[in-house]
Formats: sequence, structure tokens, C-alpha cells
Amino acid sequence: MTPFSQLSGTIAERISQIRATLPDSVRLIAVTKQVPVDAMRAAYAAGVRDFAENRVQEAEAKQAQLCDLPDITWHLIGHLQSNKAQKALECFQWIHSIDDLKLAQRLDRLAAQLPNKPQSLLQVKLLPDPKKYGWLATELLHDLSALNQCENLSIQGLMTILPYGLAAAEASVVFQKTAALANTIRQQNLPHLQMQALSMGMSNDYGLAVQAGATMIRLGRILFGDRST
Ligand SMILES: *Cc1c(COP(=O)(O)O)cnc(C)c1O
Repeated sequence: MTPFSQLSGTIAERISQIRATLPDSVRLIAVTKQVPVDAMRAAYAAGVRDFAENRVQEAEAKQAQLCDLPDITWHLIGHLQSNKAQKALECFQWIHSIDDLKLAQRLDRLAAQLPNKPQSLLQVKLLPDPKKYGWLATELLHDLSALNQCENLSIQGLMTILPYGLAAAEASVVFQKTAALANTIRQQNLPHLQMQALSMGMSNDYGLAVQAGATMIRLGRILFGDRST
């Protein structure tokens, strides 16, 4: 892994350098787990409006501290325990980490009661990885008709996290396969499964993800430096 501890420049400079390399259609999401709110304010001042957290509680605490910045879109990118589903729907406008059918159905039932429905993504793993959550491609294809019943989730596409330590060539292939899976699903024309969004690419590999068609990239360390864990 590239060490990001020696980053140069301010957060604003890093953001503008990265943005300059991205097509306008790609949404840069700042991943702020373990990042203090001061650094988040710096990213906000540099134009970032999309922030992602992997824990509901941490997001809630930061939202209270940043409540003077009302136009932030909050994204959940971490595994969601079903007992936190209601809270997650209250805290996040986007949920990237819907990783199995039971969770999807639970969120759908809860979202039915809400005025503002979440935007959602289905988390997939194109390489089997017991340490990662998400659907394998075959499993997802099997669950599509049930997912298409989840009308309150506004499912927009797929999200993926690569296994740790893949070489660039392998990473590219996995991103391309993820994009191809979204295409396959799109061709089924299921009315409640939009497949135009692809959330893939992190600090190490976002360039490859963008080449493969990512529409959202999730950047943490390259903006804020290394995390403690
Ligand atoms: C932490 C995290 C990221 C950001 O990773 P970096 O390597 O810091 O860019 C992106 N996506 C998910 C799901 C994460 O948990």
C-alpha cells in the first residue's frame, strides 16, 4: 500500500489536484472515518459536499458538530447492523453498503415510513473474499427480482471494495467486471433497479476505477493522511 503519511500540500490543494484529473461526471466522496471535524471543514471549504462514514454513531456525532453546514450529503459506506437500520436512514442520504437481501428488505420496510427515501447501492464482491461483505455476482443475479420489490430504496447501482493488496492489472479487471455486472442488470429493465451509479475506487486505485467507469470514488487517506487503524 502507498503510505499517505507524507502527503504534501493542504487538504484544499490535494482536492483540487485530484479533481483536475477527474471527469466532471465523477463524484468525489470524502471518506472521513476517524477524521476530525476541522479537517472536514477544510474539505467543505474546498468544495466537497459529499462525506462518507462507515459507522452510524460517528456520523451522528459529526453531524451534530457540523450542523451549520446544511448542504452536505452523507454517505454510509460501512457494514450496517440491522439494529442500526432505522438510525442509518435518519443520518444518511446515500447507503452504499446494502450487502444482503435481508438488510435490503428491512431498510425497504423502514424507508416506506419516511418522507425522504434513501438513495442506495448494492455492495458486490466480484472476487470471493470471506472477509468482505456483499453479494457475489451469481448471488446478486439470483436476488434481483426480490430486490426489485424494494421500491423504497431507490437503488441506483453497485458498490465494491477490492480485496487488500491486488496488483493494478487485477484491480482493473475487477472494476471492469463490476461495471459489466451493472450493465447486465440494466439490460433486464427492472423498474426499481437503476444501474447508472458505480461506487468504486479508493485512494490507492481510484484512477483505475474511473477508467472502468466509476461514477463515485471514495477517498480517505489521499485527502486526510493515514488513519491510526
Ligand atoms: C475507508 C474506506 C474508504 C477510503 O479508503 P482510503 O484508502 O482511505 O481512500 C473507501 N471505501 C470504504 C468502504 C472504506 O471503508
